[in-house]
Amino acid sequence: MKVTLDPERCVGAGHCVLSAATVFDQDETDGIVLLLDPEPAAHLADAVLEAADLCPARAILVTTPGGRPA
Ligand code: SF4
Repeated sequence: MKVTLDPERCVGAGHCVLSAATVFDQDETDGIVLLLDPEPAAHLADAVLEAADLCPARAILVTTPGGRPA
């Protein structure tokens, strides 16, 4: 899977970091999301999908290996 972000939508809620701390982080100054791992390992798929689902700003886009939106 591949992860992309739209940081301009991010409101710094931090749900993504709580769900998948090895994939997402937050800027120390403004709290805006940072992408640590754009191609997470398969065992992180559930956590990444949870992060995308919980993001109140819909700032996380996940695509599957076939290029389909997850
Ligand atoms: S959950 Fe969404 S709004 Fe919150 S920090 Fe992550 S990307 Fe930003």
